[in-house]
This record gives sequence, C-alpha cells and structure tokens, in this order.
Amino acid sequence: MNNFIYQNTTRIIFGEGQIKGIADAIPANAKVLVTYGGGSIKKNGVYDQVAAALAAHTWSEFGGIEPNPQYDTLMKAVARIREEGFDFLLAVGGGSVLDGTKFIAAAVPYTKGDPWNILANFESVSQALPIGCVLTLPATGSESNGGAVVSRGSDKLFFVSEPVRPKFAVLDPATTLSLSPRQVANGVVDAFVHTMEQYLTYPVNAKVQDRFAEGLLLTLIEEGPKALATPENLAVRANIMWTATLALNDLIGCGVPQDWTTHMIGHELTGHFGLDHGRTLSIVLPAVMRYRRTQKEGKLLQYAERVFGITEGTAEERIDKAIAVTIDFFRTMQVPVSLTDAGLDAAAIDKAVQSLAEHNRTGMGERGDITPEDCRAILKLAL
Ligand code: NAP
Ligand code: FE
Repeated sequence: MNNFIYQNTTRIIFGEGQIKGIADAIPANAKVLVTYGGGSIKKNGVYDQVAAALAAHTWSEFGGIEPNPQYDTLMKAVARIREEGFDFLLAVGGGSVLDGTKFIAAAVPYTKGDPWNILANFESVSQALPIGCVLTLPATGSESNGGAVVSRGSDKLFFVSEPVRPKFAVLDPATTLSLSPRQVANGVVDAFVHTMEQYLTYPVNAKVQDRFAEGLLLTLIEEGPKALATPENLAVRANIMWTATLALNDLIGCGVPQDWTTHMIGHELTGHFGLDHGRTLSIVLPAVMRYRRTQKEGKLLQYAERVFGITEGTAEERIDKAIAVTIDFFRTMQVPVSLTDAGLDAAAIDKAVQSLAEHNRTGMGERGDITPEDCRAILKLAL
C-alpha cells in the first residue's frame, strides 16, 4: 500500500427528515446564501424544508445553476456575494449545484485575476467561503470531497482543493424520490465508475480499500436496478445515497493508484456534445477496460471473481466475461454503452481527442502513460 494522509472533515447528517439539522450546523450569526439549480427543489418540498430550517437565520437565495454549471452563471453569484457580503453558502441540489457553489466559494476571495485560472491552471485554492449542502442526487460524492467540475462554453475543467470541501452534508434519501429514472441511473453509474477508477489499476496489497470498493460495487449492482424497478423504495435510495458518498470521499482512494481516464474523456464528451455526465462514463469505461486489459490484468481478474463470481475459464476468457457483465449492468441501468448508442459517430472522436490535447491531458492513467492518442484508440473501441 502506498503512503497517504487521510482527513475528511465533512459532517454527514444522514436520514429522512434531517434537513432541519442545518439550523444547528450553520453558525447562528452567518449571512447565508442558498444556491440551487433549475427549480426541482421548489417542486419536491426540499426548498420549503430548507426555508423552515433557516427561520432564525439571515438568508437569501441564488437559483439557476444549470447541470454542468457554467462559469458565467456562477460569476453572477460571485458579484452578488462581493456586493452583499454573504459569509456562508448552502448548496441545495445535485453535483452541479454543489460544484458550482464550490467554484463560487473559491472565486469570491480570489485576488489573482480571473477565477477561471483556478481551473485552467489547476491552482490550489488557499481560501474559500464555508459551504454546507443538502444533497438531492446521489452520484458525485461532491457533498464530502474537495473536487468540483465547472464549464465555460465547451471547456469542462475540474479543480480539487481542501477549503471547498463542505463543512456538512445533509443526506436525506427521501429527497431523491422525485428524481427521474434517467437521473437515478446516471447517479448509480457515476458512483460505480468513481469506485472503479480507484480500484481497477494494479494491485498494491491495499486489502481493505479493495474489499471496500468491491462492497460499493456490489451494492450498486444490487440496488441500482431496484431503484428503477421500485422507485418508491426508500431503503434502496438510502443505500444508494450512502454508497455514492463513500465512492468518492477519499476513503477508498487512500494509498492506491488511480486512473481517471474515463472521467477525463467523459468531460470532453459532455463539453462538446452535451451528454449527461453519467452517460459518458458508461460509454467510455468498458473501452478503457478493453484497451488496458494487459496493464490491469490482475485487478480485472480480481474484479471478475469477487464482484461477479467469475472463476471458470482462462484469464482472457474471465476478463472478457467481466467486461461483458459490466456492460450488461450498464444496459440494465438503461444508459448508453457506445458512442453510437448516444447518437455520436467517428467525428466526435476527433473533436474529443483534439480537446484533450488542448487541455494538456497527456499523462493519464495509473502509470501516467495515457495520451490523447491513446484516448483516440479508447474512443474507437467505444464506437
Ligand atoms: P446535476 O447536474 O446536479 O442534476 C441533474 C438534473 O437532476 C438537474 O436537472 C436537476 O434539476 C435534477 N435534480 C437534482 N435533484 C433532483 C431531485 N431530487 N428531484 C428531481 N430532479 C432533481 O446531476 P449530478 O449527476 O449530481 O451532477 C453532475 C455534475 O457533477 C457534472 O457536472 C459532473 O461533471 C460533476 N461531477 C462532480 C464530481 C465531484 O467530485 N465534484 C464527480 C463526478 C461528477 P434542478 O437543477 O432543477 O435541481
Ligand atoms: Fe463523476
């Protein structure tokens, strides 16, 4: 196992009816700006619960953060905060609202020019406004990590910094009951791929991280289809919600190599072609597994055996089977598994590869040896 430092400071407030907990979690004298998206929280009762919980606080709101949050929208919030002096941000929504709010929190005190530099130059942020959140879409893990993905036109970039890690996250699975089947599926796939990107590399004898990752994968494989088949089942929602948080809260990533190639390619597909984040991942991951089957052989065989019970056949046959059942799982979740499924063709590959090169994505993968040209080969396998 590699050396690591682990510290996750987000207080998790989990369970049905827990939104009221924000009253105590936010300092009483804070001036709070509640951020949210396109209005789902006004239809499903979450906004009303937040307003009731904030009855004793001074607060205002900023709505309209779009899926794949856009720089221009976020900068409007930055201007307002600088003018009106809010000192606590409460993000209420899915990963896009959370990520957008993280950018806002980092941009407000930023003094080195355009805050877009944070993403364009992958700068480390030294200070940010404190953030709390009420999560309504289990998927990204953004509720308790320091990462955020923001778009400016077709550029979809990310940054990771400790000061934007939320101070607390309310995870009430009942808030997820209003999600469309498409968003449920996107979320399950996103959490699945986050887990895989910290697991499917090369073995470093990280026994508990491996077992933990396998537990998360098994839970998503079991509960994901149930969430589609029995959408009213709150126990299923609860398991998915906690699994998605644990999939990207730094825990399973401790001391292990990581391979974020699928996400890096996926960001380009969203940036240029507007595909939902989760649906880019179900297209790209199987192709990464095929392209890197030699480098990932040990972990592919472990995944085959421990997650899917595949023990018969040669190593090659077991790996083929593991990739096939992964695709079957994605199909069960009703997400695309090829570029063609998503209505894209070979022209999309050129665009994505060119953009990866422009974004300087030269050393991806667990060994830092995946180039944009490798991504071309991966995307060809994904056609
Ligand atoms: P999202 O983009 O936040 O939301 C997708 C849609 O779901 C929105 O239209 C939203 O509507 C709706 N929605 C959210 N909660 C709902 C609910 N309870 N009921 C009904 N509708 C609801 O989706 P996401 O998958 O959570 O986030 C995706 C973004 O996160 C992408 O930009 C991706 O790149 C990023 N990401 C970040 C990380 C990270 O570590 N930070 C990791 C992976 C991905 P409203 O706008 O009306 O609320
Ligand atoms: Fe993701």
